[in-house]
Amino acid sequence: MTELYYIDGYRKECKASVVRKDKSAFVLDRTVFYPEGGGQPGDRGMFSSFHIGDTVKDDDGTIWHVTDGEAPAVGTEGLLVLDWDHRYHYMKEHSAQHLVSALMFSHEHIGTVAVHQGEDSFTIETDVSEIGDDVLFRIEGLANEAIRKNLRIWQDEVAHEEAESLNMRRSIKVSGRVKLVHIADTDVVACGGVHAASTGELLEIAYAAKERIRGHVRTIWKCAEDAVAWRHGNRRIISALSALFSAEPDKLYAAAERQIAETAELKRKAKHAERIAAHALLSAGNGDVPVIFSDIPASSFEDEKERMFLALDSAGRFLFHGSAALFERLKTECNIKGGGRNELFMGSYKDNAEEFMRKAKEILDGREEA
Ligand SMILES: [Zn+2]
Repeated sequence: MTELYYIDGYRKECKASVVRKDKSAFVLDRTVFYPEGGGQPGDRGMFSSFHIGDTVKDDDGTIWHVTDGEAPAVGTEGLLVLDWDHRYHYMKEHSAQHLVSALMFSHEHIGTVAVHQGEDSFTIETDVSEIGDDVLFRIEGLANEAIRKNLRIWQDEVAHEEAESLNMRRSIKVSGRVKLVHIADTDVVACGGVHAASTGELLEIAYAAKERIRGHVRTIWKCAEDAVAWRHGNRRIISALSALFSAEPDKLYAAAERQIAETAELKRKAKHAERIAAHALLSAGNGDVPVIFSDIPASSFEDEKERMFLALDSAGRFLFHGSAALFERLKTECNIKGGGRNELFMGSYKDNAEEFMRKAKEILDGREEA
């Protein structure tokens, strides 16, 4: 099979014929489709009228085009057409990952452990446990400088010994001849993936976030249109928050902090007021066991331990203060769930409040066991 994607990463179609098939996958005599590998997903597209959703390489190095239904018969000839948007997106992301990994290694001695390419971002798991944002912003700056210089990216293939003698930042994982990818004089590594032809095509690289994984820092990046869309998205979020908090972007954090503190204080005051109201409701009783329905959260009655009562709130919660035996009767005869201890029980009720109150009153007023 001729792997045309390696000779020309920009070739979008070729004529081909089916040489092998297996249910829904088939092999062509030549292909422009890149098979999944090195963190780069397999290509998609069409062969004649057959939709190809994925391309994979098996252990023998055979490239399989995976279609939705039955694969075309051996001997079928047709035009193989790449989903170029999909391919080009990953070509740029993959090349951007090479560039960022190279810069992290040459400027900060940070190695790359694993990479992943996603729909709108790519990740680089590093070999270190801490990296400051200032370091990653500096790498971002260097990456964008390389983009402005529009450095050439190219591939070649050399003998294994020659590749070994280059002392590359990443170990060589293949035997025999080695495919190399160069970014001007910035980087060279062994890679059989598909790459953009110059750094200028990457448009923009943005450091988006970092996280901890397996004791390492994993950095998250965006490139090209995704970086632009992310920058615009962030700008929109800041504008919306600025309007919401009536604060300039540089005062936004302080405004949000103030707002959160104010909200916490209001919540504290509301809780206090609810407890006072709960106490007033209980104190207004006429001597019977009070069964109270209110908008006050049932938990506001928690401190009321002077007498037996049942409080229900409009959110479907209840709180009961009384004996465990009475609570068991309530549980058996009313449609409620819950539990507790020290004569304080809470939970939720299913019936409507009136129904629950009527049944509960019957039980509590005629409490034989108490
Ligand atoms: Zn590569």
